[in-house]
Amino acid sequence: MDTRHAREMWGQMGSTDEGAELLEHIASIRERSLAACAAARTMDELDAARREVLGRSGTLLQVRRAIGSLPGEQRKQVGAAVAAAQRDVEQALTRRERELLDSEPVLARPLDVTLPGIPVPTGGLHPTVQLMYDLNDAFAALNFQIYEGPEISSELFEFDNLNFPPEHPARESMDTYWLTSSHAKSGAERLCLRPHLTGASVRFMLENQPPFRFVYPGRVYRNESTDARHERAFFQYEVLIVDRHVPLTLGKFLVSTILDTVFGKHVPTRMRTGFFPFVEPGFEIDMQCQVCGGQGCRTCHGVGWLEIMPGGSPHPNVLHAGGLDPDEWTGFYVNVGLDRLAMMRYGIDDVRLMHSADLRFLGQFS
Ligand SMILES: [Zn+2]
Repeated sequence: MDTRHAREMWGQMGSTDEGAELLEHIASIRERSLAACAAARTMDELDAARREVLGRSGTLLQVRRAIGSLPGEQRKQVGAAVAAAQRDVEQALTRRERELLDSEPVLARPLDVTLPGIPVPTGGLHPTVQLMYDLNDAFAALNFQIYEGPEISSELFEFDNLNFPPEHPARESMDTYWLTSSHAKSGAERLCLRPHLTGASVRFMLENQPPFRFVYPGRVYRNESTDARHERAFFQYEVLIVDRHVPLTLGKFLVSTILDTVFGKHVPTRMRTGFFPFVEPGFEIDMQCQVCGGQGCRTCHGVGWLEIMPGGSPHPNVLHAGGLDPDEWTGFYVNVGLDRLAMMRYGIDDVRLMHSADLRFLGQFS
């Protein structure tokens, strides 16, 4: 209802000046409010428009208060005009509110799809575990099985089966963690944390028919104080191949498979005779020093070679323990310390870092 229309309507009713003025006022409030609604660009502006007309001291409420002093017939007419104006304004407010909500951006600021994303911390493999996986891949490609022995083993599997004589110092409590519950027992019933992986080789021999070739990586335990070169727990990687005829050159090939995988290039090696209870003949295997390339330096104490792993053919007593006839079967063991290899691979100088769970250290490898 515009002003002119209101005046005409009031004129037809022959009303007083006061009533006509109020009607005019209502029409003008209505027009201003509808214009304010249409002009509102934000919800705050719309709320301000709502308060202006419908609030406690809003313009339409003021008109309502004035109605009381009008004569009966005018009061009815003006009251109806106020109600109509209020309805129109409320409808306009609701419509505009819906429009504003519909056009409001979902994000607080415009979306820029060219901005770089938020990096998600994904973690990574421990360098020792990464090396273990790399070696597993290399040996799996050569048709080796991957085997896992138990970390809690027994005197039988860790010493008796492996040709360690009863008086061998490794059987002392100062070298191996024995489980107190089985302290008074012996053999298969005397339990310990495995001090090496080799015990698992006999378990595999007892469960499988030769010829076979397999690797068995894992954690081993030594009762010793820690320093930059020693840890109470560390990882080893052991390889065993058993067949009717296994030349020593095959052993050298196993060594090369490990070192070439670790360093990503061919590393010269040499084998010297060495004693280990579970092999006959046994070898100390050296690799060319990768720091000086064999020229001699502080790392290799000037000799150009580093002692890297033991190896050799399984001792006949070990084959017997595994249920195999030493006259029919032979083989070759290679055992290497995985942490030490990983340290050489990445140039790490303290073995304690490998088990420190220090994210500043580990984060460099992810
Ligand atoms: Zn050197």
